[in-house]
Amino acid sequence: DARPSAEVIRAEEAGLAHNYHPLPVVITRAEGCWVEDVEGRRYLDLLSGYSALNFGHRHPVLVQAARDQLDRLTLTSRAFHNDRLAGLAEGLAELTGLDVTLPMNTGAEAVESAIKIARKWAYEVKGVPADRATVVVADGNFHGRTTTIVSFSTDPVARDGFGPFTPGFRVVPYNDLGALEAAVDETTAAVLVEPIQGEAGVLIPDDGYLAGVREVTRAANTLFVADEIQSGLGRTGRTLAVEHENVTPDLVLLGKALGGGIVPVSAVVGRRDVMRVLRPGEHGSTFGGNPLAAAVGQAVIGLLRTGEFQERATRLGAVLEANLRPLVGRGLLRYRARGLWAGLDIDPAVGTGREISERLMARGLLVKDTHGSTIRLAPPLTIGEDELTEAIGKVAETVAG
Ligand code: PLP
Repeated sequence: DARPSAEVIRAEEAGLAHNYHPLPVVITRAEGCWVEDVEGRRYLDLLSGYSALNFGHRHPVLVQAARDQLDRLTLTSRAFHNDRLAGLAEGLAELTGLDVTLPMNTGAEAVESAIKIARKWAYEVKGVPADRATVVVADGNFHGRTTTIVSFSTDPVARDGFGPFTPGFRVVPYNDLGALEAAVDETTAAVLVEPIQGEAGVLIPDDGYLAGVREVTRAANTLFVADEIQSGLGRTGRTLAVEHENVTPDLVLLGKALGGGIVPVSAVVGRRDVMRVLRPGEHGSTFGGNPLAAAVGQAVIGLLRTGEFQERATRLGAVLEANLRPLVGRGLLRYRARGLWAGLDIDPAVGTGREISERLMARGLLVKDTHGSTIRLAPPLTIGEDELTEAIGKVAETVAG
């Protein structure tokens, strides 16, 4: 599209559903942590496609894996085997310490799939009476946008106008083990939580919460489903965020970065005895587990195998945090950070999250606000220390007013 930014934006507004309100930048190319707009301006990407770009834009290893696969085989459907999928499953088992993979495409599909698996497990294994299974979720959750998933959202913007909703969910406050324990009973198929709530503003539960969820679910013979779609794959300094508490859930949900920012790839990875409740014909996806997705997913797992990115997230996360701390009271009300991931609550006197995002854009930084007054920083894990400190310097100047 050779049109200038303003024209492209007008054309988008005319021709696209208005379910997003993008910042007024039209990106045409990208490499690593940097993107370029159609006028040739460069910006540092501090959002990383909501963590789908943990390895940066067009990481050469991932692009090569995709290219090689494009030249051989892209889609078989699951009607036939392909020579890529077993390798993805083996890699995910190694990565998570779990046994069996169900490949899907988007995050929401992985969540939907996990709910189906948990319900079926509840009826067939736990012995819950037909159609009585419940799933316990947390207040402030974000697990996607399908009708069933918004059924248990607590965000009116996500829900209003989209009913009637899917029954069978109980919402408890996040980070409250007592409430969780009280909500779990003989009908509970699963407890579904984000180890860190990303869309809610990078909310990090107290130490011991995830271990507590593991204890409560084990004691009640119910499944612990960890949605690591945003928190997983290196972002927090560990491969999975649950590793901070040495916890192994029964099902782990992965997405976003599993596709390397190239193709949509998601997965439910779980215990063999749970996953086997799915039998032929009961669940599926035309594109789920396609060879192109599997090749990129395997290359992503290869990048994570060395621990280099997890180590970078930890080391640079400390730099990020050290630079954020002095901003509290100087434009920030508070912040939360884990690894290379932070939620900054902007002092409303300084501006809304949107206004701050626009001011940062004018200074060459791309971020996204969430819930009005919070901005999230999630740079690619490949970012250099100098790039990071320079970026936080600009954030500091911008929020200081
Ligand atoms: N779960 C979590 C924790 C997420 O952050 C997201 C997306 O932001 C999703 C699920 C949904 O993923 P997708 O947008 O690929 O459907």
